Amino acid sequence: PLVLGIETSCDETGVGIVRGHTLLADAVASSVDDHARYGGVVPEIASRAHLEAMVPTIQRALKEAGVAASDLDGIAVTAGPGLAGALLVGVSAAKAYAYALGKPLYGVNHLASHICVDQLEHGALPEPTMALLVSGGHSSLLLAPDITSDVRPLGSTIDDAAGEAFDKVARVLGLGFPGGPAIDRHARDGDPKAIRFPRGLTGPRDAPYDFSFSGLKTAVARWVEAQRRDGVDVPVADVAASFQEAVVDVLTRKAIRACKENGVDHLMIGGGVAANSRLRSLALERCEDAGIVLRVPRRELCTDNGAMVAALGAEMVARNRPSSTWDLPADSSLPVTEVSVPGHSHPDPE
Ligand code: ATP
Ligand code: MG
Ligand code: FE
Repeated sequence: PLVLGIETSCDETGVGIVRGHTLLADAVASSVDDHARYGGVVPEIASRAHLEAMVPTIQRALKEAGVAASDLDGIAVTAGPGLAGALLVGVSAAKAYAYALGKPLYGVNHLASHICVDQLEHGALPEPTMALLVSGGHSSLLLAPDITSDVRPLGSTIDDAAGEAFDKVARVLGLGFPGGPAIDRHARDGDPKAIRFPRGLTGPRDAPYDFSFSGLKTAVARWVEAQRRDGVDVPVADVAASFQEAVVDVLTRKAIRACKENGVDHLMIGGGVAANSRLRSLALERCEDAGIVLRVPRRELCTDNGAMVAALGAEMVARNRPSSTWDLPADSSLPVTEVSVPGHSHPDPE
């Protein structure tokens, strides 16, 4: 199926077009630079930027894919979770295009899209899929017997998301926003063993699949403050590398344990933090040792984009899943278990 996907849950206006598992176009307009001076995403600015970028980005994607809108089999859109106003721009645009073109509309979950995108890289996802989802707002281990209808959380962060921890530590180190890519870069010149930061929830009595990164973030902040108080130069590269190591050590350990304990022989890693170099290399190393096949999409498919939404939409069409009704709502706190959103209205009683 030929599907166009629209993503506006945060600060990226993404429009992707796929045919089945083949990526035809991935157009992304980001308002990240407009947010940088505020140190985080400002919802009002994001919504306005989506509004301005929406139509040009759709046109760019159609041109890049070399397809006519009339040939589409459906239009998919992120219905949640995310920023309410930002989501609304995408959902409204998707409705308008789908209605005008006479195409079915599919409101889908942003988090399931972060997983399904790997089909564009490595083909059909195995069933069940074990996924480590690590992004700006979420960190979970998910078992998905069917990525279009059945996603089960095994565990999640009890405080900060992994990406949030990267962003906060980057701020402590004065590395700007967004912090993940900056920490990744600085960590390359640092020693991951320089400072032993705490590994959250790894005790024998702790929940095996839950995560906690808030204690780690505080430990890093305290360590840096102590250095500054003593008038010592903060070894930014070593702090970045040691912090990053603490995060990815826990993520990979728990993900592999989840695979083993659930009898799954492969692991998918998705979400913005899956772009992290050290997470990618350590996961590969540990998966090889454990006899687990690792699937991680290329970096630009890990962070928010429209192709991931199109990928999930195409899977919905391929499996004849019902489309959404025209009153499809945007749901800022859509749970990960709701892979698609049917809409409010019920069919008219005959
Ligand atoms: P969610 O998907 O939970 O709704 P989001 O869509 O805002 O959140 P993503 O775009 O999936 O988040 O990911 C953004 C996060 O990924 C940010 O916190 C960013 O710092 C982090 N990130 C991006 N690249 C890297 C990297 N190379 N290393 C570590 N973190 C990274
Ligand atoms: Mg973003
Ligand atoms: Fe995301």
